[in-house]
Amino acid sequence: MAYRAEYIWIDGTDPVPLMRSKTKILADGAEPGIWGFDGSSTNQAPGSNSDCVLRPVFTCPDPIRGGDDILVLCDVLIPETMEPHPTNTRAACAAVAEKYASFDPWFGMEQEYTFFKEGRPLGWPTEGYYYPAPQGPYYCGVGAVEIAGRDIVEAHTTACLEAGLAISGTNAEVMLGQWEYQIGPAGTIEVGDHMWMARFLLYRIAEDFGVNASISAKPIKGDWNGAGCHTNFSTKQMRESYDPIIAACEAIGAEGKVEEHLAGYGHGYEDRLTGLHETAHFSEFRYGVSDRGASIRIPWQVAQDGKGYIEDRRPNANCDPYVVARLITETVCSAAS
Ligand code: ADP
Ligand code: MN
Ligand code: MN
Ligand code: MN
Repeated sequence: MAYRAEYIWIDGTDPVPLMRSKTKILADGAEPGIWGFDGSSTNQAPGSNSDCVLRPVFTCPDPIRGGDDILVLCDVLIPETMEPHPTNTRAACAAVAEKYASFDPWFGMEQEYTFFKEGRPLGWPTEGYYYPAPQGPYYCGVGAVEIAGRDIVEAHTTACLEAGLAISGTNAEVMLGQWEYQIGPAGTIEVGDHMWMARFLLYRIAEDFGVNASISAKPIKGDWNGAGCHTNFSTKQMRESYDPIIAACEAIGAEGKVEEHLAGYGHGYEDRLTGLHETAHFSEFRYGVSDRGASIRIPWQVAQDGKGYIEDRRPNANCDPYVVARLITETVCSAAS
């Protein structure tokens, strides 16, 4: 029987791209091939020369439709040259992944996000003073007062597992209506593919609940946690001894690198990296063991074992995982080469 392939891509919306998708019906046994779309409707081309190309790069089972149906994440290409479109960040990431493959880089990315319904975070009061009780009981909470949206989170986790994504956990976050899932450990390009696919499934499943899943970095101003995408990283060398752990922190904190990384860590990092709410101020760089107020945290267990990984706490929830993984791989591996 014919089956459905959902072609998915990342658009050109500035400053935070959106995900787009459309359905292709394929004959029984046919492979998903090159396709195209109207780039003038996605901020990727002018109307006078609107065609953009979709090239499949990562495919998995479609857990929403089930059966033989699949999800197909695509590169966006320019038709005349079949070169990566300016909005395509995967191609540069893939080149760096290949260059430093001998380091066997692993990533674990912690995607925080916030559910919104009717213009306010899910679970927030719909009348009276708008704000719920202050932060405290919500992180890893349980109960109808502490939690909002768990049914969506459970459906999303099941979908990620059925799709074969490298999801490694979930938790309720510090602000009511805010959650996290983790992808990893996965390689430099794989972590981005799985992260984007997991985001697509989150948006798609929340849609069925009439809820918007937002990756805004500071969804509510004031004394409420922002949403980050802590990025855990190791190379083969870091998983074997401690000196490469320190060398990685020093490489990321080197002159010029701090600014370069921040520029690729997501829109509005100045609003989130204030020095409060478990962040380091964006203007300073420091690393430390167990320090959730540092730019980079070395987990306690890693210091104890004398090997393992580091956590860059600066990437925003709205970061592009291809850009973050490219920057960290390039910076750490080139310094160790
Ligand atoms: P936190 O304590 O900061 O909340 P999490 O448990 O949410 O940490 O996320 C940690 C992530 O780090 C997970 O995705 C996990 O797969 C990943 N991870 C574990 N070991 C490594 C490693 N050696 N290299 C890279 N990532 C790792
Ligand atoms: Mn976490
Ligand atoms: Mn978190
Ligand atoms: Mn973390």
